[in-house]
This record gives sequence, structure tokens and C-alpha cells, in this order.
Amino acid sequence: MYVLVINSGSSSLKYQLLDMSKNELLAKGVCEKIGSGGMFSYQAGNIKIKEKPMEIATHEDAIRIAMETLTDAVAGILKDIRQIGAVGHRIVHGGENFIKPVIVSRGVLEEMKKNTILAPLHNPPAEKGVEACMKLLPEIPHVAVFDTSFYTSIPDYAYVYPIPYKYYEKHKIRRYGFHGTSHNYVTGRAAEFIGRDIKQIKIVSCHLGNGSSITAVKNGRSVDTTMGFTPLEGLMMGTRSGTIDPSIITFLMREENLSPKQMEDILNKKSGFGGVSGKYTDWRDICSASENGEQRAMLVQKIISAQIKKYIGGFAAVMGGVDVLIFTAGIGENSCDMRALATDGLEFLGIKINRELNENMPLGVNVDLSASDAMVKTLVIPTNEELMIANETVNIIKS
Ligand code: ADP
Repeated sequence: MYVLVINSGSSSLKYQLLDMSKNELLAKGVCEKIGSGGMFSYQAGNIKIKEKPMEIATHEDAIRIAMETLTDAVAGILKDIRQIGAVGHRIVHGGENFIKPVIVSRGVLEEMKKNTILAPLHNPPAEKGVEACMKLLPEIPHVAVFDTSFYTSIPDYAYVYPIPYKYYEKHKIRRYGFHGTSHNYVTGRAAEFIGRDIKQIKIVSCHLGNGSSITAVKNGRSVDTTMGFTPLEGLMMGTRSGTIDPSIITFLMREENLSPKQMEDILNKKSGFGGVSGKYTDWRDICSASENGEQRAMLVQKIISAQIKKYIGGFAAVMGGVDVLIFTAGIGENSCDMRALATDGLEFLGIKINRELNENMPLGVNVDLSASDAMVKTLVIPTNEELMIANETVNIIKS
């Protein structure tokens, strides 16, 4: 079956067409700057379109361009758009009501919209993508796959915040967790890679990208994660603060006369690597600046590596041990510096990496980085959220 996977954000729409009989990527594209000009990129085999300016006013335009390119006589790989068997949509927030992927109907879409208040930046563009796609491809099933649903196994003592319980009841304020599709994918692949039954191992999975989170997965089920009510909690990130003392927020709002919106902007867009270094939101820039002796870039490296270690140790304690440590996403897969910094000194936990391999490992494949005498397997597993969404889409249609 051919499955089209759609990841629709506020100003961009990414898509991939996968042949699920071979787990093979056939084509991928991205429409950017939706509503403010428009830019289109696409790749299918040797055919590449790179950042072509194109009028893309709405998400529906973006989907139409995607369909037209997929069936184009030169660039396309489909004779007929009806060769697509199903569409899988990435939805960030499923709230408490969507605990697994679901086939989208009008009623389901209305129900999904009730979660908008929980993810006002992420969910509306994704829902626009679903609506546009259902309009253009009305005859095939559309499946919504939620980033939060991997976390429905988290126990109440890990998801209830110690504020008055009535706010959980009234506003649904609780830990939801994000990057679930990625953590679900890499933990499954990791167990296969080392030939262990996922139901019998304890995994700490580090998804380190522009957005970063760490998840504890015990016997195949998530038991805790660093992101919370929103994707702001936990680790410091490219531009996000991660966890800070909540009093800092009320203090700053009072002293600097900031509105909630201004404060949210500071925490989400002006903090993290960028905030501390004063310049660099990208990890590669932090590493180069640090090599050139810039103190605040070095400070970023120290903060983030200490935080990662705290969570690895904390989650090992929560699970009563750890068998596998995973690094994934842009930084986790590509940065030997980060992997070295984040594992340094964890020998007492049985975590020890082969430093030479860490610096010279192949990219884009699963790699076992563990030193020969390590008790814990440290693995680099490239994430593939699109393939996971396509798999979930096929599973739900078959069931
Ligand atoms: P997103 O959360 O936007 O999906 P990514 O997973 O693409 O982010 O990760 C982006 C981060 O990965 C950036 O901080 C970037 O510096 C880092 N990164 C990408 N490639 C490399 C590399 N070769 N070496 C070190 N860091 C890298």
C-alpha cells in the first residue's frame, strides 16, 4: 500500500509518500512560507526541485501542489492519485481523549478541535492539513497519529503536577509528553537491533534536536518523560528554556512589566542555547564557538550535558535500572560532542561509550556505541517519524 504522510505546521507542510510493502520512501516534499509568498522543495529518486518560489496561499494550496507534483509527467511517480491507499497525519496534541491513532471522520475532527486550547500553535495548522487533504482525497481513509498517545501509559504520579488538583480537573493541566512518535519508533528499532524483547528491557531514549526530550521506556511502555503540559518543559533547547523555577516567571513579569504573551515568547523563543549564549540557537554553532573559547557557548555545553545526565540518572532510578541508552534526532544522531559530553562520568551506571567509534561512526544507520566492557548498550538510532506514522496508519486500517 502507498501511504502519504502529512506533517502540517503553521507556515510549512512536509509530506512523504511511502511504499509500505517495501518500507520504502518514494518521494518527499516541503511547502514553506505558506501565506507569505511560498517556497517548494521536492525529491523523488534523482529528481530534485530545490526551494522553488511558488504561490502557496493556504494549506489547501500546499496539498494541491503536493498531489500535482506526485502525478506530474516528469517529476511524479504516480500515474493516478488514487494509487494512494491512505493518508497518515501527524497531530501534536491528542489531549486525554485520543490515546491511539484514529481514522478521521467529520465527528472525529470536531472532537480533535477541542484540544486546540492545549496546543494553540501546533494543532490548528495540522487540522487545516487534515481538512484540506480530506477535501482533495475524499475517497481514502485519513488517519490521525498523535505525538502524545505514546504517553498514555505514564502513571498518575508522573503526570499529575503538584498544584491544586482542581486545575487538572478543570483545565486538564497535566504532563502529556511530546515526541512520542519518535521515541516509540527508536525504542522499537533499538530492541530489534540488539535482538532483545522490548517487553523485558529498560530504555532511556534521548531525542535531541531543536526541540529535545528524554523518555523512560520500561518493558515497552513509557513511564516518564521530560516534556510536560507543553513542549517547553524539561531540557534546555535551541530557543526554549526547559524547566526553570516557576517563580522566575512571575518575578520577571512583575519586574519587567511583561504580558503573558511576551513572557511566553521569552521562554519559547529567546531562551535555551540562544538565550544563554546570547547568539547561537544551533548546536553546531555552539560547538564551533566553544572550540574558539567563547565562554557562554562553553557554558551552554556544560548546562545541557549536566541536564541530560540528571535525567538519565533520574530515569534509571525511576525504572530500577537501565539496559539501553538511545541518542536520536539532529543533535543525537550527528553530534559526537554531545554524546561524549552527555555520557561522560556515567560509568557508575554501566554507561561507557567507545570514544573512537563515537567520532568516526557512519551516519544514517543504527550504531552500537557501547564500549566492550559497558553494562548498558548505548545506541544511535536514526529516527523516522514519517515511517512510524505510515506504519500506524496501515495497522489501524488493517485492524
Ligand atoms: P527539529 O527539532 O527542528 O526537528 P532536528 O532534529 O533537525 O530539529 O535537529 C536540529 C539540531 O541538530 C540543530 O541544533 C543542529 O545544529 C543539530 N545538527 C544537525 N546536524 C548536525 C551535525 N552534523 N552536527 C552537530 N549537530 C547537528
